[in-house]
Amino acid sequence: MPRIFSGIQPSGELHIGNWLGAVKNWVNLQHSYDTLICVVDLHAISGKYDHQSLAQRTREMAIGLLAAGVDPEQATLFVQSHVPEHSELQWLLNTVTPLGELERMTQFKDKAQRLESVPAGLLNYPVLMAADILLYRADLVPVGEDQVQHLELTREIARKWNTEFARGEAFFPEPQPILSEAKRITGLDGQAKMSKSLGNTIGLLDSPEEIWQKLRPAKTDPARVTRRDPGTPEVCNIYHLHQYFSPPETVALVAENCRGAKWGCLDCKRVLADNMIAALTPIRERALELQAEPDRVDQILGDGALTAHRIAAQTMREVHDRMGLLSPARPVLSSPAQRDPEP
Ligand code: ATP
Ligand code: MG
Repeated sequence: MPRIFSGIQPSGELHIGNWLGAVKNWVNLQHSYDTLICVVDLHAISGKYDHQSLAQRTREMAIGLLAAGVDPEQATLFVQSHVPEHSELQWLLNTVTPLGELERMTQFKDKAQRLESVPAGLLNYPVLMAADILLYRADLVPVGEDQVQHLELTREIARKWNTEFARGEAFFPEPQPILSEAKRITGLDGQAKMSKSLGNTIGLLDSPEEIWQKLRPAKTDPARVTRRDPGTPEVCNIYHLHQYFSPPETVALVAENCRGAKWGCLDCKRVLADNMIAALTPIRERALELQAEPDRVDQILGDGALTAHRIAAQTMREVHDRMGLLSPARPVLSSPAQRDPEP
């Protein structure tokens, strides 16, 4: 069965862009593929972050994913730092990754320009992402469009490593992206990609009041200065969001009422809010239940880490061997995941 790997950073709230662009795909595909889903906490520390809340945010992200339908019976859900082979493989892959390729990554350039001092971890982020995927020798990676460039680099790293250490044989498969229809959701500012780190999001677990408070001031078509000014739905982010939350007849009505100035933007947003609330309420309710059971969530993540670690350890044995590293005379117990007993 082909294998899927994907990840999400606990860098802020799980938002509708993550959900529409990636998480919904994970939930649909988990039944047909061998699926690994990872809360990538080591990625989330590549910029400035609050270390006091990281552990809690990591668990919250797992809760959001479980509430959205990631099923631990179908998919392996785990935390990246619980499987230390991610960091180890990253180092080994660093040795075949061209610096120039890292410097030209769009996400690096975007994020770096907002910082006074750029940590090397931000530059090396795509190498860790390559390690995440290649560690499980995954075939497919369901992601949003913003990650396609990183995935191209993952394929290049896989090719280089295979040429150098596997005599060109495809030890590491070259993973392909799976994009959803909603591959790039725009933020409520109407400009940038909806991003946890930009504060232009609607949270998947937001309450009805929070959804409305965030939608009310959201950017619409600038041509609609007053209620009587006709608009162009295609340039309005609210119209695009209707396409993911409202039934087709409502989407058609929104377009007509916008073009004919029959609705004000607030009317249009109210209808969107109601449909969004209806779609997200069951997810929010499941999350509230899980929040009351943190031990159960930690148990799921612990089981996930064990499953992931077994695959990772096997890959690393072969990688060590092919890269010519001396095997230790006896197993070295070095990581929390490795110390856990086999069931
Ligand atoms: P950050 O701002 O910290 O980078 P993020 O919101 O971009 O956070 P990530 O954890 O980087 O979220 O990405 C998780 C997944 O969600 C990835 O597959 C990514 O491509 C996808 N994704 C993120 N933002 C969007 C968006 N606006 N539209 C569609 N998919 C998205
Ligand atoms: Mg991102």
